[in-house]
Amino acid sequence: MAAPRTYTPQQATPGPTFTCPRCQRSYPYPHDYDRPIRCECGWWYTNIGHSTIVEEFRPRIGGSDSDAPQYD
Ligand SMILES: [Zn+2]
Repeated sequence: MAAPRTYTPQQATPGPTFTCPRCQRSYPYPHDYDRPIRCECGWWYTNIGHSTIVEEFRPRIGGSDSDAPQYD
């Protein structure tokens, strides 16, 4: 009877990433309730909690969302 083994999860470096499904750019994975990833292709990805990503298209030029939150 083999003794149970313990496996230590590997520490990913530099950390988990989120890859934009539209343009394949990679970003640090957004934490829950963190500020959104604003991809170069115009899509925003926001982690609304429990690692649920909400995607929204917000073009930088000609965008009509003047009420968009500004983070920087
Ligand atoms: Zn993108």
